[in-house]
Amino acid sequence: MKTYLRDHISSLTAYTSARDEFNDLRDQVFLDANENPYENNYNRYPDPYQRDLKDKIAAFRNWNTDNLFLGNGSDEILDLLFRCFVEPGKEEVLTVKPSYGMYSVLAKFQGIELKEFGLESDFSLDEKAFIEEINPNTKMLILCNPNNPTASVFNTSFLENTIAQFNGIVVIDEAYIDFSKTKSMADLVDKFDNLVVVQTLSKAVGLAGLRVGMAYTNKELVGVLNSVKAPYNISSVAQRAAIGVLEDTQKIQNQIQELLEQRDWVAKELSSMEKIEKVYPSETNFILFQVRNASLYYKELIQKGIVVRDRSKTYACDSCLRVSIGTPEENKRFIKTLKELL
Ligand SMILES: *Cc1c(COP(=O)(O)O)cnc(C)c1O
Repeated sequence: MKTYLRDHISSLTAYTSARDEFNDLRDQVFLDANENPYENNYNRYPDPYQRDLKDKIAAFRNWNTDNLFLGNGSDEILDLLFRCFVEPGKEEVLTVKPSYGMYSVLAKFQGIELKEFGLESDFSLDEKAFIEEINPNTKMLILCNPNNPTASVFNTSFLENTIAQFNGIVVIDEAYIDFSKTKSMADLVDKFDNLVVVQTLSKAVGLAGLRVGMAYTNKELVGVLNSVKAPYNISSVAQRAAIGVLEDTQKIQNQIQELLEQRDWVAKELSSMEKIEKVYPSETNFILFQVRNASLYYKELIQKGIVVRDRSKTYACDSCLRVSIGTPEENKRFIKTLKELL
């Protein structure tokens, strides 16, 4: 794995914070971190390694805690991966288009070249042509699976072969994995040291406001990420609140189940509308659909108090709107309003 890191990252030693060395707040007198000693639930710095939260997430996912790194949302993790592995001005990242917009923001921010290989009009991938895009400077691949905004998935065998064969880092962004029948790549982390599986508590688990993202990868890279992240990257409020929500995994599973049923209902309703030209199959908690004058309907929906995403200017998404699955009441209101507008 070391060979993939940028040189100056391999040789970097982390700033060690006071709470690195001692973190068990019980039965100790802590006079090491210049905190205010008066207890108000927040006066101490949070655990820099989020140990209790990691145990909870590892149990929830059936993962090994030692292979887990947590970020301030998966966006922080993606940013760290760009910065650890890709040399600006020299090396490149390869992804597909359309995909998650943050990849190009992060690349631009770092002065890194991001090559975006276009998906077919049905959002399938010409796998052979994609692999041919790889050149000696391609350091990292990012594939969002299931993909945002297309709601589609890549072939599992293509992902497995790519991870096995690519001489560089492969990032699989699985933000929507809980809504999909496709297989997570997390199990392959034991086998391949160039694989980073990125997930988040923001979508299926319902904690977008807390900012907790996960990277599941080899232990060596977990160590590197720990040494480059901001020492206290996840607040104690967020850590405690996430632990609380993960106590009730049945509730999370029930919500996912309901969202899947609602997704099928919304898709069926959209398909029944004459003016809707296409409803793309979804492996996520949103639906992409094609309607003529999409931007006009987007604005009219807003006037009726319903906000969807206008994707009509996005590559291969001509005349497309993207709608997230809401509560049954919200979905009904969206469908009813759209029917009236159309
Ligand atoms: C929403 C989303 C994320 C962002 O997740 P955070 O953990 O909230 O930062 C990452 N990747 C994709 C593809 C997303 O759609």
